Amino acid sequence: MVTVIDGKALARKMRGEIAEGVARLKAKTGITPRLVVVLVGDDPASIVYVRNKEKGAAELGMSSETRRLPSSIKQDSLIEIIKELNSDGLVHGILVQLPLPKGISENEVVAAISPEKDVDGLHPLNMGKLLRGEEPLHLPCTAQGVIELLLSTGIELKGKEAVVVGRSNIVGKPVALLLLQKHATVTICHSRTRDLGGVIKRGDIIVAAVGSPGLIHGDMIKQGAAIVDVGTNRVGEKLVGDVDFESARERAGFITPVPGGVGPMTITMLLQNTLRAAELLSSK
Ligand code: NDP
Repeated sequence: MVTVIDGKALARKMRGEIAEGVARLKAKTGITPRLVVVLVGDDPASIVYVRNKEKGAAELGMSSETRRLPSSIKQDSLIEIIKELNSDGLVHGILVQLPLPKGISENEVVAAISPEKDVDGLHPLNMGKLLRGEEPLHLPCTAQGVIELLLSTGIELKGKEAVVVGRSNIVGKPVALLLLQKHATVTICHSRTRDLGGVIKRGDIIVAAVGSPGLIHGDMIKQGAAIVDVGTNRVGEKLVGDVDFESARERAGFITPVPGGVGPMTITMLLQNTLRAAELLSSK
């Protein structure tokens, strides 16, 4: 019997705890955690994501602002703005919405963010610490959300075969590293993987982060596996994952839906990181 993991419910519970943390910090120090999202250009999906982040922050009593910049901005000017935000004592979290327009190096821009304020967890120092098994100041939000969803099921991760499909810096790699930290045996698949179905079949835990609707079918899944579907694909009017939900639920033990699985957790983790950034900076 499959259990559908309710990402919305988990996000609601965690947001309640974050709101309490925000209120405690305000009462103790007078500080309101403040998030600045930098949005370059007018990519419609990015505009929606950024609006949801701002709304989420406001709901938990945080302050937030979106800096909208034209796609014609030069990399140096963007980095200058980030440096100003780094030195602004009233700003605790900085997030540069990706992707950036062509001609701007995402790596250089993300590296310009102060690691303490890097609430997306993508700064090389934070990613490097994750790789070394040290505790980063902030973890990448979606990856952290995936782990929280798995932990919420109560299943033991230690010693399990985990298969992560996708190797992006934003999702696949950090998910794999976090699973490794939890002592899972991790295999990472990508577009050049031979026999994807055969590798996925070994997984007690499967994390799909590809961007290919319905790539993973029920017949590729081991009976009882826990599946977290990060994929967010628009097919006509519908939002679907990388996993074919109907066939997968016949074999899985646990599965996240799309929408309502990973999506609400990503923003929740961003808000948790923003609170953490404000706590870190207020204790200095
Ligand atoms: P990327 O495009 O950066 O990475 C996709 C990965 O999938 C790559 O590593 C690629 O391999 C791999 N891949 C592509 N085709 C195949 C294939 N046929 N078989 C196996 N692997 C394949 O995407 P992201 O990591 O940024 O995002 C992945 C998905 O997650 C997207 O649908 C995105 O919208 C969604 N997403 C959802 C979030 C949420 O909050 N719900 C947050 C972030 C992302 P290679 O490296 O070889 O090219």
